[in-house]
Amino acid sequence: MNRDHPIDPHFTDEATPLDATVDVAPVAGFGLHDSNWSESQWQDLIISFVENGLVNWKELGALILGHLNPSQTGTSLASSDGFKRRYGKGNTMRIVMDWAYAQTGQCQDCGSRLELQADHIESRELFTDPLEADYIENITLRCRRCNVVRRPSHEQGGKTFLTAESALMWILLVIKPRTYFDFVRLCRIYGMTMADIRMQEAWAMAHWLSRNDPPLYGIENDENASYDLLHWQTGEITRTDACETIPDNAKKLYENVRGNYSFAFLAKAEDGRIKLFNYPLRWIPFSTYDLGEMPPYALAIRYTPPNKKKGLAQRITPLPPSGDLIIVSHVVVAPNEHLVVGNVNHGDKTTIKDPVNLNGKLLDRKLQKQHDLQLSVASGEGY
Ligand SMILES: [Zn+2]
Repeated sequence: MNRDHPIDPHFTDEATPLDATVDVAPVAGFGLHDSNWSESQWQDLIISFVENGLVNWKELGALILGHLNPSQTGTSLASSDGFKRRYGKGNTMRIVMDWAYAQTGQCQDCGSRLELQADHIESRELFTDPLEADYIENITLRCRRCNVVRRPSHEQGGKTFLTAESALMWILLVIKPRTYFDFVRLCRIYGMTMADIRMQEAWAMAHWLSRNDPPLYGIENDENASYDLLHWQTGEITRTDACETIPDNAKKLYENVRGNYSFAFLAKAEDGRIKLFNYPLRWIPFSTYDLGEMPPYALAIRYTPPNKKKGLAQRITPLPPSGDLIIVSHVVVAPNEHLVVGNVNHGDKTTIKDPVNLNGKLLDRKLQKQHDLQLSVASGEGY
């Protein structure tokens, strides 16, 4: 994840999570994936949206009516080249409509009546001539959602009912990520593989609702707040609000650290070599979300997009130091301080220039040879 993200974290006229006292979604332990959500949880969610003025019943009514109308089921088939070629232009619409009227009017996979589309039973890719797939006995009704989740790009593996575009709003309104970075991480652990730009677009809703009166959302104002840094038994580093109760499986590394500071650490890899990391606090994930069966530190991840050229799937890997790294020294660094590394026992100290860009890099060879390295800070702007 790029730490120099162009996205403005917080505008002055926007509410913070503390200011946003209205919960547009009920706090009901939904978890991150929806395989266990009940009809009554969905009902509570929609009622809450209406009661808090996010949408009204009239809009929902209009939306549902529009999605009940099977508007494309006939014409999309009748206009396809394969159908015209097989049945002749003049006959196609009649054949297609006879077929449409004979259907049950429900999605073949989930039974929904919403957003039905005509879909091939044997898909076009299975035919040498794709247009050969266009014959009326090879067509079935599927809702748009089921159509989308059949695509190979959809990798949530039955854990979720929502399409990615719906899940973006679900994550935003139900989990309420406090920063854009956490929003993206939530989307990634949810299973989304789309490019970041889709999340950037969706994040606009957070800005809009934070400016609503009363605020229906809150965006973290990192630069103006303080946090406790937690180190979990399994290695993850997260932040939480200052003075929150510390869970049993975590310990507090620092308390009341200003959001414009950064957290630097040296970590030993399995091969014994030392790597340097420096995370601006505003970039460290929060462990304050209710993620259901997932642990609160589940956002301590790194995401690698799929590489289609090389045929590699997306990868989610632990955010260091979680994974195979062991912290050997750590320090918090104020904006007017610089980071130095030296030996615990004697005075030689080396200033680290541009530590953020060295994230995850090995310390240079001269330093690697020393034992008992320790990070500290020195004041002053200059190097
Ligand atoms: Zn369906």
